[in-house]
Parts: sequence; structure tokens; C-alpha cells
Amino acid sequence: MITVLSGGTGTPKLLRGLRQILRDNELSVIVNTGEDLRMSGHYVCPDIDTVTYLFAGLLNTDTWWGIKGDTMHTYHAMERLGYKEPLPLGEQDRATNIARTAYLDAGLRLTDAVRKITDAYGISARIIPMSDQEITTYVVTEDGTLMHYQEYWVGKRGNVPIKGIVRKAADGAVPAASPEAISAIEESDGVIIGPSNPVTSIGPILECSGIREALRKQFTAAVSPFIGRRPVSGPAAALMTAWGYEPTSLGTFQVYSDVADVFIQDVRDTEIDVPGAVRLDTMMTNVKKAESLAWDILSLFPRR
Ligand code: GDP
Repeated sequence: MITVLSGGTGTPKLLRGLRQILRDNELSVIVNTGEDLRMSGHYVCPDIDTVTYLFAGLLNTDTWWGIKGDTMHTYHAMERLGYKEPLPLGEQDRATNIARTAYLDAGLRLTDAVRKITDAYGISARIIPMSDQEITTYVVTEDGTLMHYQEYWVGKRGNVPIKGIVRKAADGAVPAASPEAISAIEESDGVIIGPSNPVTSIGPILECSGIREALRKQFTAAVSPFIGRRPVSGPAAALMTAWGYEPTSLGTFQVYSDVADVFIQDVRDTEIDVPGAVRLDTMMTNVKKAESLAWDILSLFPRR
């Protein structure tokens, strides 16, 4: 079994490639929940749902969120009433969120609520939230205000100067990893930290207590989402700078250096030198390229 640490865009592309090689029941995915939010009475988990829909064969891979062909009647009806939801949800996607919220309200842990949903979709991969506690990533704006990451990126398109990153657990405690996440790492043949945003996707997973310790005992390969001083997509550069790291593969390597046995940098990333990094073509512009990268990464795993 391989365990993959994932956010909602870069790593799902790699998962699509890994699925060409491995059976779904040979994959466990520990998913970021730091971008979760409460909205219209729903507990929304954008990254978990992207990974769920990918394995269910339903994901809209034009946007890497939502269900392909989903309708948006409720979202638009609410807009006409003067309420614009912070994240657009289609009807089928909304059903997932309603079911999850009902399971949580009935007292289930998030890990179990997600399991009920992935079982219902017939998914044999293990999709595991990083934690059962609520943890939220905020950006700190120039006047010191905390802004939810979704408001910063989806609401304001990242067009707000930021000077810091704050992670807050709802109960104020250090977040504990989901026990299932720790066992997945322990039971696997190796771990892949996918090319997700180090600040908002992988950082929150690594900060859950027990995760770094488990990774240090396990073979771990990490893939950079940067080429030069820019990420392949999204706001990772501004976020890395606000977090106190260089917005490059070197900065990413520094975040992962205590857990990664192998660090993978794109062949095009010629400007930035990470000592010891393995160079691969990491641009997953289609499923074939993702499969090819997946083969290359798996070939780096120690033989058992
Ligand atoms: P989010 O949850 O939607 O923010 O998505 P992730 O954190 O999972 O992924 C966002 C990161 O994926 C960005 O920093 C991109 O640079 C990276 N990314 C997207 N596509 C690719 C790709 O094909 N190759 C690499 N190396 N990185 C990618």
C-alpha cells in the first residue's frame, strides 16, 4: 500500500496517474482539512470532496473541484435572493455536504463520516481526513486581520497583500492526527507527499501531532509544486513568502527536510538548486503524463 498526502489540485493529478498503476485498494490518501468551512449550514470539505469525486470517477477535471455535469440551481437561486455562497456548490456536491453534516451532527467523527460517504460511492481507496478536529488556515492581512484562506483565494482571488499565516484549531489545542492517518502511514510501503501547496495543503497535515514522527520512520518521497519562483498554479508563492519561506523548490524542501527521504524537482526548475534532489518531469498536463510521473516516483521506492 502507498499513502499519499494531498490537497485539492496538484496531488489529485498525481493520484489520477497512480490509479493507472495501482489498484484503488492499494492507495490511502491523507487529505488536508485546513480549508474546510461552514457555509449555508453545511460542513464543507473541499479537498476531501475533490479526492472522493476523483476516486468515484465523478470529478470535474477542468476545475479540479465539483462533480462534472452538476447543476447549480440552488447556488443561483440563492444569488437571486442576494446571498452569494463563498464557494459555489452544485446540487449533487451539496448532497455530499448535507450528508456529511448530518453524520457529524449525529456525533460521528469526520473520519467516519467521510468513510460512510466513500463507501456509498463504492470507493475502495482509503480517504482519510488529516484530523477529526477542526483546523483552519487564515492569512494575516497587512492591518493584522485574520482572513479565512477560502475568502482570500476564492473570494478575493489572492489580490490582498498578506504578511503571515495562522493556523487555528477550533478548541485551541494542538490538532491530533486522525488515528487512521497514522496507521495508514505505518502500514504502507512508502509515502508520497504530492505536489500540493506546502502552506495550505501539506503544512496543515504535517502539523497534526504524530504525522511527522510517523513519516520519519517511513520512506517518504516529496514532489515540489514550484518551477523557479512560481508555483505551477495558484497562490503558493505569496503564501510561502508570508510563511517565511522562499517561494521555490528550495523553500518547499526546507518545509519537508525532516521527513522527506527523496525530494523531486521538475526538470525545468533549472534556476533553483536543491542539493540531492531527483529531477523528473512533474508537469501533469494529462493522465498519461501523470501516469509516467507516478511510475518514475514508484521506481524510487526501496524494494522490500
Ligand atoms: P488546492 O487544495 O486546490 O490548493 O490544491 P493543492 O494544494 O493540492 O495543489 C496546488 C498546487 O499544485 C499548486 O501549488 C501548484 O503549483 C501545484 N500543481 C498543480 N498542477 C501541478 C503539476 O502538474 N505539477 C506540479 N509539480 N505541481 C502542480
